[in-house]
Amino acid sequence: MCGIVGYIGCEQAGPFLLDGLERLEYRGYDSAGVCLNTGSELFVKKAKGKLKVLKDLTENGKTLHGTVGIGHTRWATHGEPSDVNAHPHLSESGRFAVVHNGIIENYQQLKDYLTSKGIAFRSETDTEVIAQLIEYYYKGDLVDTVIKVLEKLEGSYALGVISKDNPDEIIAVRKESPLIIGLGENENYLASDVTAILSRTKTILRLENNEIAILGRDGVKIITTDKDEVHKDTETVEWDVSAAEKGGYEHFMFKEIMEQPTAIAETISPRIRNGRVVLDEIKLSDEELKQFTKINILACGSAYHVGVVAKYIFEKMLRIPVEADLASEFRYRDPIINDKTLTIVISQSGETADTKEAMKEAQRRGSHVISIVNVVGSAIACESDDVIYTWAGPEIAVATTKAYSTQLAVIYLMALYFGEKLGTVVPEEYTALVNELEMLPAKIEKVLENKAKIQYLASKYFNSRDIFFIGRNIDYALSLEGSLKLKEISYIHSEAYAAGELKHGTISLIEKGTPVIALVTHEELIGKMVSNIEEVKTRGAQVMCIACDDHPEMEQVGQTIFIPKVCDMLLPSLAVIPLQLFAYYVASLKGCDIDKPRNLAKSVTVE
Ligand code: GLU
Repeated sequence: MCGIVGYIGCEQAGPFLLDGLERLEYRGYDSAGVCLNTGSELFVKKAKGKLKVLKDLTENGKTLHGTVGIGHTRWATHGEPSDVNAHPHLSESGRFAVVHNGIIENYQQLKDYLTSKGIAFRSETDTEVIAQLIEYYYKGDLVDTVIKVLEKLEGSYALGVISKDNPDEIIAVRKESPLIIGLGENENYLASDVTAILSRTKTILRLENNEIAILGRDGVKIITTDKDEVHKDTETVEWDVSAAEKGGYEHFMFKEIMEQPTAIAETISPRIRNGRVVLDEIKLSDEELKQFTKINILACGSAYHVGVVAKYIFEKMLRIPVEADLASEFRYRDPIINDKTLTIVISQSGETADTKEAMKEAQRRGSHVISIVNVVGSAIACESDDVIYTWAGPEIAVATTKAYSTQLAVIYLMALYFGEKLGTVVPEEYTALVNELEMLPAKIEKVLENKAKIQYLASKYFNSRDIFFIGRNIDYALSLEGSLKLKEISYIHSEAYAAGELKHGTISLIEKGTPVIALVTHEELIGKMVSNIEEVKTRGAQVMCIACDDHPEMEQVGQTIFIPKVCDMLLPSLAVIPLQLFAYYVASLKGCDIDKPRNLAKSVTVE
């Protein structure tokens, strides 16, 4: 995820490009760059780091020359954040420049092909293949060339393209990644979202998938990939600038909850090819994989809860003992770990100090470390032996939602990948699971549609002093996350309990009116869970259940949020959504500072 801007008009483009990028910086912020057509060349300026570096280098864009240009703030997916990997990317001769938001899934094949034709690449990005392909196929018509290049690309993209020889146009196109066009007087704009252009115009056109826009100074033409013209009505944007930065949502947390179907699709779809899970990132041979006698998962907070879910999934599917460990405890207990242990570390930021130190301890003891990280080029990503990026895009709210969900998605991919290699997942089961995994984003959309009921339940419980979460098996692991989410942002005291454990002590805390949230998604444990629910109801608890929609009778047990039925492995991805929304609505009703809860920081870089 990143931010794209473009300008074509009669003014100097530089100041708008920099201002637009600043407004999009929340979408990604590891590097930034601009490219302007000066009349004699495509001039590029790029810089690693915050946008401020680029702003200082260009005096807020004032030192740049040209009335047509494109800009980008990058959230790296392929290639570490660096000046060279920052966008825009030029073709070999410097004749074409491209900015890109998304992932080109088949970039390696395309790169190999172009390299075999003698084309030299400068960056490690997937994006550069687009610029190189345009030059490779160019025969005098830029639009025709872009259409031809699109036929070669697999993946998601929003693109802005300019050419040295066409100072009077910008070509834009999108598939899956967002892109809008702003219409002005003798000037037009391109942007990932309206935030970037609101200070200039509120009249926009929304590009649909596979539509190509040709922006000139006096107008914008939109065509299909068959070159049929598309006539669209313009829209007038009502948002003010500050609302739009959150995509119109009141809080980043809510926006990130709603982004989960897209974020998970970004994580999984490039890694499923022809019905197989492909994890090119893991360099272990099949033989090396088979040597491991134990898996050790190290993480903190919500990432640790992903580890607890993973323990259940891996043990069931891989038949290897798994320990999920709190990173802050691990290194101080002389852990039993060696080169026969595979270590998996999980961290959104890749900078979590506890996790980083635990990882080093595991490496010192000879363990191979695979990290699951969101931020490209972060310390844990660089220092682990292999890294699998979640590609969730920047997560701004302190309480994690989409990073948690995409970490879970990586766990599923690993379970399938290892299960196939170790022969512990039979082919029919493998195929069925891969199919279900591909449908997961659509199922999550369905759960999100049910938010009004969760909001209603939140309105019943938001004044509570204590709220308990119970579950068995993976539902217990999920209870941990549901409870943490609630504590983090609503400041309500909450505990998560293995449902069978409640009667061994904590049930003494249940009194008339105490809310208990029961996760009842596992078919074979429904009977046992219902007994535990009856135990708390007898002591006065008010029960809210989360259950699969093939058990409508759960509505008699407690007020129930239903999720679509999926295979056991994928249940946590659906069941966590009502828990996140519940915490969000409770905190919102209490008037809490949802995106920045007291005493918490997004990336905990101290031990
Ligand atoms: N995949 C591209 C890169 O890593 C674009 C990332 C983005 O959307 O910012 O450079």
